Amino acid sequence: MKKIGLVIAILLLVVGFFHYDLDRLLTLDGLKSGLVQFEVWRAEAPLLVGSAFLLLYVVVTALSLPGAVIMTLAAGTLFGLFWGTVIVSFASSIGATLAFLVSRYLLRDWVQAKFGSRLKAFNEGVEKDGAFYLFTLRLVPVFPFFLINLLMGLTALRAFTFYWVSQVGMLVGTVVYVNAGTQLGQLESLSGILSPSLLFSFVLLGVFPLVAKKLLDVIKARRVYAGFTKPKSFDRNLIVIGGGAGGLVSAYIAAAVKSKVTLIEAHKMGGDCLNYGCIPSKAIIKSAKIAQQMRHAKNYGLENVEPTFSFKKVMARVHDVISKVEPHDSVERYTELGVDVVQGYAKIIDPWTVEIQLNDGGTQRLTARSIILATGARPFVPPLPGLDDVGYYTSDTLWGEFAKFDEPPKRLVVLGGGPIGSELAQSFARLGSNVTQVERSDRIMVREDEEVSALVQESMIADGVNILTSHNALRCEKEGDIKRLIVEKDGVESVIEFDALLCAVGRQARLEGYGLENLGVETNRTIVTNDYLETLFPNIFAVGDVAGPYQFTHVAAHQAWFAAVNALFGTFKKFRADYRVIPWATFVDPEVARVGLSEQDAKEQGIEYEMVRYGLDDLDRAIAESATKGFVKVLTVPGKDKILGVTIVGEHSGELLAEFVLAMKHGLGLNKILGTIHTYPTWAESNKYAAGEWKRAHTPERILKWIEKYHTWRRG
Ligand SMILES: Cc1cc2nc3c(=O)[nH]c(=O)nc-3n(C[C@H](O)[C@H](O)[C@H](O)COP(=O)(O)OP(=O)(O)OC[C@H]3O[C@@H](n4cnc5c(N)ncnc54)[C@H](O)[C@@H]3O)c2cc1C
Repeated sequence: MKKIGLVIAILLLVVGFFHYDLDRLLTLDGLKSGLVQFEVWRAEAPLLVGSAFLLLYVVVTALSLPGAVIMTLAAGTLFGLFWGTVIVSFASSIGATLAFLVSRYLLRDWVQAKFGSRLKAFNEGVEKDGAFYLFTLRLVPVFPFFLINLLMGLTALRAFTFYWVSQVGMLVGTVVYVNAGTQLGQLESLSGILSPSLLFSFVLLGVFPLVAKKLLDVIKARRVYAGFTKPKSFDRNLIVIGGGAGGLVSAYIAAAVKSKVTLIEAHKMGGDCLNYGCIPSKAIIKSAKIAQQMRHAKNYGLENVEPTFSFKKVMARVHDVISKVEPHDSVERYTELGVDVVQGYAKIIDPWTVEIQLNDGGTQRLTARSIILATGARPFVPPLPGLDDVGYYTSDTLWGEFAKFDEPPKRLVVLGGGPIGSELAQSFARLGSNVTQVERSDRIMVREDEEVSALVQESMIADGVNILTSHNALRCEKEGDIKRLIVEKDGVESVIEFDALLCAVGRQARLEGYGLENLGVETNRTIVTNDYLETLFPNIFAVGDVAGPYQFTHVAAHQAWFAAVNALFGTFKKFRADYRVIPWATFVDPEVARVGLSEQDAKEQGIEYEMVRYGLDDLDRAIAESATKGFVKVLTVPGKDKILGVTIVGEHSGELLAEFVLAMKHGLGLNKILGTIHTYPTWAESNKYAAGEWKRAHTPERILKWIEKYHTWRRG
């Protein structure tokens, strides 16, 4: 309502301006003919006329009306160079800021809601360098100022910054125009003020801040190296620290492009994913799933059986799987690929030198032009009183320690309701543990939509997991052999007795112990990097879990390409890490896979969307396999088939997602998926049917009515 009032007020003022022919007065001829009268008024009451002039100037610029140039000239004629400049400088800046604020108030929310996701990079750019851009635009009077006011209002630039940058940036132009106004008698036309050479000077002035910024960047980059002596030559083109997904792929790319690269791994090649993460967890998930299917064999016309098994053998299989994947990440393979693999603990001595504490004794120093940090993350252990006394497991220790057990822990507490906690809680419940999962939020897997959490939670409860949401873990207690976790909900404490406790409350980047502190590499929860994955030192890069913002193997590998290419070829061209289409999956049962926006994200970010949903209970293959729980949910741009995000819950959802990832990456809409043959009867058909749901929701009813008429007519 307030907005409508403001629009009406602006419209009335604009109509009034043209109705009373003020636009004609604000031309060069109009100004010249009215000048004598203005001079008389000014001589009689200079302060009043000066103030009225300032006010009128503010109104004209605030309403983006034509005439500001003429008024600037008039200011020169009436008030002389100094006072004219003062009045115009303030009036134009205040007026511009008012126009900026009106545009922001009326349009910004709408523009951000409609184009928010596409404007993300632009908004970030404005937040970082907005003042520079504005200054450049202000210096060059060839860009219409009123347009700059209105457009800047749509960005995230602070109003005060806008004001002062505008005032400083417009000053030179203001002086030129006010000065021209002092010689109004000789001025034949407006274009006379801006000769080509003057315009060229303005352009140079406009480009100056950008050049200055580049120079500042270079100086800043040099400053961080102050106090270090750069080697005259280097042992390597690239040193990569960490042999997990991020490090392996970085080294692989470097070797593939024939650079001399050393990969340093302190512990196990393959990092967390192979040894403690993705691979062992997926291996145990499979055993657990088969055990559960045996219990529910009736679903397939067989008899339910309680699986009998040796837990030791299940864990031995997990390790067997790791050892079968191991060759992919082995020292031998990477050496063969041309990577110099060194096994030891690396420490950065200076921006080009790394010292390695070799695993088999001794130290080695190497220099390189660039360094990539791929040092990963470790499980976060919450500071719970008594935790050390009762003892606990994490994904780092679980696989080794549980392998020693004959039976799975009778009573297992899993702290954390995220993907890792949920995958493991369900698996151990299926393998016979009595599992209690404790989560502080009011649901598990909070990153996903509520209905996704609900479906997974329902399935996990059916598997016997006791899920305690909205529960805070307070402390642990030990009495003889009895171990207890004390939790609290709504101020009421309760006690959970357990035999083993698994911490799965998140993973923290490895930031200490290898030289970041000494070098002053900036960190917060991760190593701080720019869009090119450069740290504070432009020759030191960071990728994977240690860099964030995602903690997935495929994202580490994806970043590795950017870091390796920027490290080796950045002198010629640097590439911004691209996070536009990042997929992930959580391998609970039913599996959850996602790419792009969820409904929850879209609402939080104020992004308009349409949603279609296809239930797997309709899919022939799902029915044949008695696995109909789940759905494919697609968010699209309103009225268009452009995909904003997809969530799939159900069997093989991680695999099914790939088609949507490809579509989003390459801008293919749902019509294209619908027009693609999908083999019958496959799970992948669910993607096509989801696209079909979209098509049905967008049938051109009116055209169909005409087509119906045509058919009726054809029948005679
Ligand atoms: C239980 C679990 C399940 C997971 N499941 C999945 C999944 O299904 N899908 C998925 O995408 N992701 C999954 N992840 C996450 C995935 O494991 C990580 O995102 C991935 O390992 C990150 O790779 P990285 O290269 O950044 O780090 P890492 O794999 O952690 O590698 C870092 C390496 O650096 C070495 N290092 C550290 N400091 C030094 C030093 N100073 N000198 C020498 N070496 C050093 C370490 O020893 C380590 O080997 C899972 C994680 C866990 C814990």
